[in-house]
Amino acid sequence: MDVGWMEISARIIAFISLMSIGYYRRGNRKYPRDNEKRREKKQISTRWESPLMKAVRVLMSLFYILAFVFVLYPEPFDIFKIEIPDYLRVVGILGTILGTVVIIWATRTLGDNFSPVLEIREGHQLVTKGPYRWVRHPMYVGNVIWILSFILLSAWWIFALYLIIFVVFIMIIRTSKEEQMLLETFGKVYEDYMKTTGCFFPKLKK
Ligand code: SAH
Repeated sequence: MDVGWMEISARIIAFISLMSIGYYRRGNRKYPRDNEKRREKKQISTRWESPLMKAVRVLMSLFYILAFVFVLYPEPFDIFKIEIPDYLRVVGILGTILGTVVIIWATRTLGDNFSPVLEIREGHQLVTKGPYRWVRHPMYVGNVIWILSFILLSAWWIFALYLIIFVVFIMIIRTSKEEQMLLETFGKVYEDYMKTTGCFFPKLKK
């Protein structure tokens, strides 16, 4: 395979992005990792997390690993490759950086309230600052920007499957469940919050 400067830059940016997203996702987990202990310490309600969502999360972890494969050992996977013009790969690199920033911004703003599963934890607080001032699901928006850009950055069509899975299962199915959960937990406060924010795009001034 011809490893030109475009391939090298794409792989370096992808590596930095994957490592930093991974770091911030873990960094926020201050609670005990052991499930038994978690249940003791923080009354968690995971009844919102269905087996289907668990399967989807496993699938998404596989794509995360596949992204590392693209960075570290792509040579055997030429079957995933598509030919795209260089300028689109540059767009992909810039978009991946943007997506990374949005994801990390949202993760850091949620702080202890962040969780990879749908759950309400002891002392859970409704976050309405940072990107949550304008949209209710900035992390999901960041992920869509990231995945879409990663298709271009890597020039691997397989990540288009990731995009489809993410949009269908996370943006459509999970988001509506998540809002039900937050509505049930925070009631009127969340209802009011919904009036001033958009789901994925900021609300235009009334
Ligand atoms: N959908 C959000 C957050 C994804 S992380 C986004 O795209 O930015 C999922 C966890 O975040 C869920 O367990 C939920 O309890 C929590 N969550 C979602 N919105 C929240 C908010 N505004 N304040 C506090 N926690 C929130």
